[in-house]
Order: sequence, then C-alpha cells, then structure tokens
Amino acid sequence: MTTTIDGRKIARDIRSRTAGEVAAAVAAGRSVPGLATVLVGDDPASAVYVASKRRAIREAGMRDFHRTLPQQATQDEVAAVIDELAADPDVSGILLQLPLPAGLDSAALISRIPVSKDVDGLTTSSAGLLARGEYGLRPCTPSGVIELLDAEGVTIKGSHAVVVGRSELVGRPMAQLLLQRDATVTIAHRHTTDLAAVTRAADILVVAAGVPGLIGPEHVKPGATIIDVGIHRTPSGLTGDVRADELDGSAGRITPVPGGVGPMTIAMLMANTLRAAEWAQRSA
Ligand code: ADP
Repeated sequence: MTTTIDGRKIARDIRSRTAGEVAAAVAAGRSVPGLATVLVGDDPASAVYVASKRRAIREAGMRDFHRTLPQQATQDEVAAVIDELAADPDVSGILLQLPLPAGLDSAALISRIPVSKDVDGLTTSSAGLLARGEYGLRPCTPSGVIELLDAEGVTIKGSHAVVVGRSELVGRPMAQLLLQRDATVTIAHRHTTDLAAVTRAADILVVAAGVPGLIGPEHVKPGATIIDVGIHRTPSGLTGDVRADELDGSAGRITPVPGGVGPMTIAMLMANTLRAAEWAQRSA
C-alpha cells in the first residue's frame, strides 16, 4: 500500500503558520514583511506564477511590492530596479521571476540581490551559506521537500537519499539539505550510467530531472518514499518525472502531481519572506 502525500494540506498548514507569525510580529510592533516580485517581459506562464505568489503574500498579511518591466527592458534597467529594491528597507525579499527574456544575463542580475533578501536562495552567497550549513535563505522547492518529509514523519537521518538531477535550483540544494539532516546522499544526473541501480538503493528518492516518466517500477525499492519534483503539461493533464500509476503499491509514500511538491514551493516562499524580514531586523 502506498500513501499519497498531501502537499496541498501540508502547504496550507505552513502558510497559515506563517500568517500567524506575521500577525504576531506586527502586533509586537515590528514592521510588516514585504516581498518584491520582479517580472520582465510577457511570458504568460511567468505572469501566472507571479500573480499567485502575490496573492499568497497578501493572504499571509505581508506587503506586496511588484515591478513589471517590458520585454525590451535592458540589463541596466532591470539592474536599476533590483538595486532600488535592495536599498528599500520596506522590502524584505526580492524575487526575480525566471526565465528572463533572451539577451538578459540572469546570473548577473541575481547576483545584485543582497543575501538577506534572497528569498529564492539563488545567489552564490546563499548557495555558499547552504553548503557550509550557515544561517541563510534556502531555495524554496528543496526546503519544501524537507518540510514534506518531516510532516510525514519520514526518518532522514541515516537513510540513503538519492537525488536525481543536479540543477542549481533543485537538485544541488536538495542534496545539501539532505546531507545537513544526516542522510547518506547520492546524486544521479544525465551521465549516470545505470540509473536504476542507483535509485533502487534509495530509502528517499527525490526526482528533479525534468524528464516525464523517467522513473518507473524498475527504479524503486519497495517501501521507499518518492518525491516527484517534475511537472509536465500533457494532453491528458499534468504528470511528473515518475510513472506513479505503474508503481503498483510498491512505494511506501509518494507525492502526487499536481498537489505534491508544487504547493510547497509557494508556501516556502512565504516562510522565506518572513525569515528575511527577521534577518533584516536582527542585523538592523
Ligand atoms: P529542474 O529545474 O527540474 O531541476 P533542470 O532541467 O534544470 O531541471 O535539470 C535537470 C537535471 O536532471 C540535470 O541535472 C540533469 O543532469 C538531470 N537529468 C536529466 N535527464 C536525466 C536522466 N535521464 N537521468 C538522470 N538525470 C537526468
């Protein structure tokens, strides 16, 4: 029997806990945390993501600062907006929505975000703090995965965790977070020769390869916890990197797509914005 992990419910709990903490901080006289979302260009999917992040911020009782720049915006124009938000004490966190229009250098723009406002955890400084286990803001998707595992009571310490994918946004920080929680961590990627042999050793299998249906029954140890970070739009609806319907009850727990990891990402963005505000207040 496989348990389906209810990411929507766990995300809802985190969002309401964050809203409660925001209300308590404001009642204690601290300033209202605020998130600045920066949207460049007219990619429709990005516009939808930004709108839902802004809605969630307002629902959590935080301030919604938003900037839109045109598709033709130059590197200097985007940089100027980030610098202005970086200097604004009312802005606790800055989120530069990716991908940026072709021709803009996203790495150079991300690097302008101060580490204490880096709510996506994407700057080199945030990655360094994570690698060293020091205080900092962690990327939302992998920290959401840790919250899911904790909410489900999955033992991380001493377990063998396999992460499929090594992207800056998900795979790498995921491996770091699991390592910090004392898992034995293996990272598989595009050049792994026998993927099934590696993943079959996993007690916790986190799949973030961006390949629809990559993982099937031959990749899974019976009883394992499977976290599917992939999300793909197909004619028959949304699917993940895992062929969940073929696993036939062999996994112990699995996240559904949609309704698993996805809702956690936005919940962790709320939590990170509050954390960023606390960080700013501590160092003020
Ligand atoms: P995401 O945003 O989901 O992390 P990316 O496209 O940035 O996705 O990264 C995909 C990662 O998945 C890369 O690290 C790549 O090596 C890994 N990957 C892609 N295809 C495979 C595969 N067939 N087997 C194992 N790993 C893969």
